Amino acid sequence: MTKALLAILFGAVVLLALPANAAGPIRVMLLDGESGGSFHNWQAVTPALKKQLEQISLFQVDVVTAPPANGDFSNFKPDFGKYQVVVLNYDAPDARWSADIKASFEKYMTDGGGLVIVHAADNAFPQWQAFNEMIGVGGWRGRNEKSGPLWYFKGGKLVSDETPGSAGAHGSRLPYRITLQDANHPITKGLPKVFMHQGDELYAKMRGPGKNMTVLATAFSDSANRGTGNEEPALMVLTYGKGRIFHSIFGHDVCGLSSVDAVVTLQRGTEWAATGKVTQKLPPDFPTANTVSYRVDIASLDPNYSKGLNGLDSGGGAGGARGAAGRGGAPGAPGAPGGAAPRGTPPSPTK
Ligand code: ZN
Repeated sequence: MTKALLAILFGAVVLLALPANAAGPIRVMLLDGESGGSFHNWQAVTPALKKQLEQISLFQVDVVTAPPANGDFSNFKPDFGKYQVVVLNYDAPDARWSADIKASFEKYMTDGGGLVIVHAADNAFPQWQAFNEMIGVGGWRGRNEKSGPLWYFKGGKLVSDETPGSAGAHGSRLPYRITLQDANHPITKGLPKVFMHQGDELYAKMRGPGKNMTVLATAFSDSANRGTGNEEPALMVLTYGKGRIFHSIFGHDVCGLSSVDAVVTLQRGTEWAATGKVTQKLPPDFPTANTVSYRVDIASLDPNYSKGLNGLDSGGGAGGARGAAGRGGAPGAPGAPGGAAPRGTPPSPTK
């Protein structure tokens, strides 16, 4: 091999090793729209996600809104290739995307794209095999044992459980405990081993192929709050072809997203999905093993913020709909004054 060729190869290696933002901010497509029901207010969540990403000067975010369920999809052709990472604040049934859109997204990921799954985005597309391989686990929209085993931690080990049944469950939106299961990943490095997440839905009974999946952190699903008693997957990373995926169960609403751990893991997870690295330091207001911590600038974006930070699962609204799951009265109910105003939560196939 000549010296000239060696010099060219060395130059190529140096170029590849440069951080992606050396050439400008990381380009993010924040894809939102449709939903399984009115309980997921994606219109309110998107500005919170955008603000979190843009406030650390690493990202440039473009919002792409998919047409509604009965909308015209003829001009919906997201140009995934223009972006280093796609953040999904989107939940839709299998039939909504054409084979062409699905193929274009699969190619984007296979070729090394980045994907971030926010909360109910893991309810989407239950029969789209490639998508389910990207997310690892999902819930609702008819998922059951045919979608894959249940995944959770028990006795410090990741379990895949073939017990049949439907996929997807959660209790009331109380604060819950997160435990790191992999503290050496760029996304989790430096985080406390155990910390509290502000009131939010704790997804349990999630099913899926679980291929190429590393569970970075789990959430303790307390049986006192309709939980499983297991440590449920909360933050996951996966690969799909050359693509990288960060999957977080956080973010049922703006309140949940305002939890500092949700902010930090979204920022870190999005950078990692885009570049494979994390360059961010841990902020001093990160929650601890027995304190929650939230950002007012994010929480105040919630349209119900003036009714209380997390006046959520009391009374009719959400608790009513979930009564179908076997238990009505959540803490604070019934008749909690000024608590959850009816939020219009009809029975729905997703959560
Ligand atoms: Zn939800």
